[in-house]
Amino acid sequence: MSGVVLDGKKINQEILNELRPRIATLSAKKRPPALAVVLVGNNPASQIYVRSKVKTCHELGIRSIEITPPEDTTTDDLIQQIIPLANDPDVDGILVQMPLPKQIDTEKVMSYVDASRDVDGFGLQSLGALVLNRHAPRACTPAGILEMLKRYQIPIASKHAVIVGRSDIVGKPMALLLLHENATVTICHSRTQNLADECRRADILVAAIGRAAMLTKEYIRPGAVVIDVGMNRISDKAEVQRLFAHEPARLVSFEKNGTALVGDVDPKAMKELSSYYTPVPGGVGPLTIAMLMANTVQLAEDHLLQ
Ligand code: NDP
Repeated sequence: MSGVVLDGKKINQEILNELRPRIATLSAKKRPPALAVVLVGNNPASQIYVRSKVKTCHELGIRSIEITPPEDTTTDDLIQQIIPLANDPDVDGILVQMPLPKQIDTEKVMSYVDASRDVDGFGLQSLGALVLNRHAPRACTPAGILEMLKRYQIPIASKHAVIVGRSDIVGKPMALLLLHENATVTICHSRTQNLADECRRADILVAAIGRAAMLTKEYIRPGAVVIDVGMNRISDKAEVQRLFAHEPARLVSFEKNGTALVGDVDPKAMKELSSYYTPVPGGVGPLTIAMLMANTVQLAEDHLLQ
């Protein structure tokens, strides 16, 4: 048996295409949606993420405003740069790229991003709205996963969802979103006992851990839907050969690049045991950016068309 691939790139294109007419309406009636992106310092991964977010904005006709304070910026300096954005009626969403440098008080900074511009759904008000299932931007990665499950018509109500990871940006909001869809939800973390037993009870297993291929075949109930959020870069040749022996193209790509991207679930076990699964790359990643664009457009509609 081999699971059906949940194609994140395809869903990304569907979502972006559905946004185009909404952006056109906003542009014709008022102005294009606008997203401010704040990138502090020189974190290479953050630079790549921001570049691809800005590029997608341009492709869609969303105005992007980039603010790039240096690595040694203080909390107060950063707040002084965010306040004008937060008060600008021509800015719909403010994205502060995480992680911020260590000296910065992230929670204090985020408290200056009002809920009406909290495009990532990370602020206290947005999280409160999520708990109460009220209208507000939802964290993009879990919102994208839910969108994908719905578009593939995967039943959620009454299913047992097990989420490994309880971060504020993935695990916790994912659990609440699935709970609102009437799943029975278990949240696991580093102190969970008998993790494999818990995971094997899952109809829908979501791995958001940050540990390469940690969930092996013992963790997957045959026929489960497996969502692999993890993005781990590995460079150990023996490990890559072991994990991707069944995918020669990945071995060739490793030989060329010297690294391989692997999720939190063993790729072979996931493919062989699941009914549906998200590959890494090409599964969850493209959904995150699509939902960021969707949140920006929704905020612009809230601001301009109400
Ligand atoms: P965090 O590091 O914030 O959280 C990881 C979670 O995993 C924690 O709750 C932690 O438990 C749990 N965990 C760690 N080790 C174990 C273990 N041995 N057994 C059980 N649970 C464990 O990570 P994020 O949620 O931010 O990200 C998770 C992964 O998803 C990363 O690989 C990240 O790169 C990826 N990611 C991908 C995105 C995408 O667009 N595809 C977007 C966001 C993240 P505890 O709380 O007890 O410490």
